[in-house]
Amino acid sequence: MNKIQKLSDAVIDRIAAGEVVERPSSVVKELVENSLDAGAKRVLVQLTNGGKNRIVVDDDGRGMSDEDARLALERHATSKLTEVDDLDRIATYGFRGEALSSIAAVSNFTLTTCADPDQGGIELIISGGQLVEERPGTSARGTRIEVERIFFNVPARRKFLRADATELSHVVRLLTRAALYRHDVHFKLEHGAQTLLDVAAVETLSERVEQIFGRDRARRMLPFELESDGVRVHGVAGRPVDALPRRDAQHLFVNGRVVQDRVLMHAVSAAYDDSMPRGRYPAIVLFVDVDPHLVDVNVHPQKTEVRFQLSRQVHETVRHGVRSALQSEEAIPRYEELRPGAAPATSEPAASYPSAPSFQPTTSAPSMPTHTPVTAAPLPTPTPTQATGNWVDQMPIETTSQAMALGQYLESYIVAQDREGLLIIDQHAAHERVLYEKYLRDADDDIVERQALMFPVTIDLAPDEWSVLHAELDEFRRIGFLIEPFGDKTMRISEIPAVAGGVDPVELVRELLGDAVEARSATQDTKALRRRLITTAACQSAIKVNYPLAKPAMQRLLDDLFRVENITTCPHGRPAIFRLTQ
Ligand code: ADP
Ligand code: MG
Repeated sequence: MNKIQKLSDAVIDRIAAGEVVERPSSVVKELVENSLDAGAKRVLVQLTNGGKNRIVVDDDGRGMSDEDARLALERHATSKLTEVDDLDRIATYGFRGEALSSIAAVSNFTLTTCADPDQGGIELIISGGQLVEERPGTSARGTRIEVERIFFNVPARRKFLRADATELSHVVRLLTRAALYRHDVHFKLEHGAQTLLDVAAVETLSERVEQIFGRDRARRMLPFELESDGVRVHGVAGRPVDALPRRDAQHLFVNGRVVQDRVLMHAVSAAYDDSMPRGRYPAIVLFVDVDPHLVDVNVHPQKTEVRFQLSRQVHETVRHGVRSALQSEEAIPRYEELRPGAAPATSEPAASYPSAPSFQPTTSAPSMPTHTPVTAAPLPTPTPTQATGNWVDQMPIETTSQAMALGQYLESYIVAQDREGLLIIDQHAAHERVLYEKYLRDADDDIVERQALMFPVTIDLAPDEWSVLHAELDEFRRIGFLIEPFGDKTMRISEIPAVAGGVDPVELVRELLGDAVEARSATQDTKALRRRLITTAACQSAIKVNYPLAKPAMQRLLDDLFRVENITTCPHGRPAIFRLTQ
């Protein structure tokens, strides 16, 4: 007897449903995308029990004729794609034509739709994929889909649905994102009697950002825009000081679709690379637009992964675009913003979040710098050959930045003023940043200034250290060291970067070696290693706290600081400057 059998449609639908429908939020995603594809300007979502018992999506889109409504519920029925070729340039959200049939296969499903008010609408009631009833529906243009008890007929799946609050938080995040990429649409989300989101259509992204996150948080984000190599990026970027220990405040979109993409996430981290403490993530709303031919959105059934043909260009454009925001003057935090719990929002956010999906200040937010010395270094005597290099040379006061030094506080902070108010600058962090950027540029151009040691020193190494250092000798040379093998357990250091004059060379090389070992296992990118080495070298060479500075030196530091790319933090991500407005 032939044992191979063709699966029945009902079974196929249920299998497909497993791919498309995972939880309430995936149902909402498909239905909302259909509404947007139908040109809706208003989308209302209602849930009960996190969507487990009931999901309603109601829109004012173009609706469906009776015949289309019946067809829409068949698998692989879609109005959005007719040719295989079309797969290359999909401009709509849906295209697989299996969402409605899949959802209807695993729920009690009611579709009410009307395309032409004169003709009247239709209502189709389906249970577990079987048509139960068909009757005339309302005659208002648009579509309303009600999904009750998803997975009622697949107990194994239903059992895996999470607590109401968890399912709800997925829907909130999803709609938050939909609202971000379609600010021209009115979205409303209700959970039981509670309205969680209600954002009227607006003209600009920044208005929408304000509607969603509240005025205060929205104003702290920095806008950016860049177009290059056929890639356009724009959005708003959170400031490093507002970073969160979670990634979920990152909203990434490619050609108007939500994505979770490694290339993009990496490019964002790279933009913040040297201004973010480890384990913290900036809030960001990032839109990338590329020629649809150059991106494959069909990688994943839920379409959150994409594949770029020009991933390098995309990466670089994103990195530069985001970085441009961080380099703006706006990036300097105001004093109120550094204190946790301070600065009550002037207007309440339009949305309240059941599980804090994003942008919530955390209790571990950076606090106002205290004057505890960062290093326990003994008070050094300020001579020009000290750890400060040539930097403290007496210079005439000549202000090139708009900021003017007023004095020093606790021999650790520079107090200055500019047009906007008072500035307080952590001298160590600021100098570290200045040295870091200059050093990095010089290393890239291979023109780091060196200094020969009058007495070359040797450093004893364990075999693994020896081999790592040996492999990276050229990178060490670029940042200003002349190091040579001196036997098989030892290396000889005969030149060091000029900026590190006054630092114990052996200690510094040991410190850098630690970076090299770590960077090596983490990445093959020599630039990443270079940045790490320079971060450490800059930290070692920068002026310390508890170190008196003369006025011209303070002014010099300010001028230098206002010329760097990324003014707000030291390369480890500690705040370097904040502002007290008038
Ligand atoms: P897809 O979106 O991939 O085409 P779906 O199963 O989600 O597949 O929908 C099938 C078809 O039903 C769509 O192509 C569209 O023509 C129609 N449709 C679904 N939802 C709506 C809606 N809210 N308004 C108008 N038409 C809709
Ligand atoms: Mg669809």
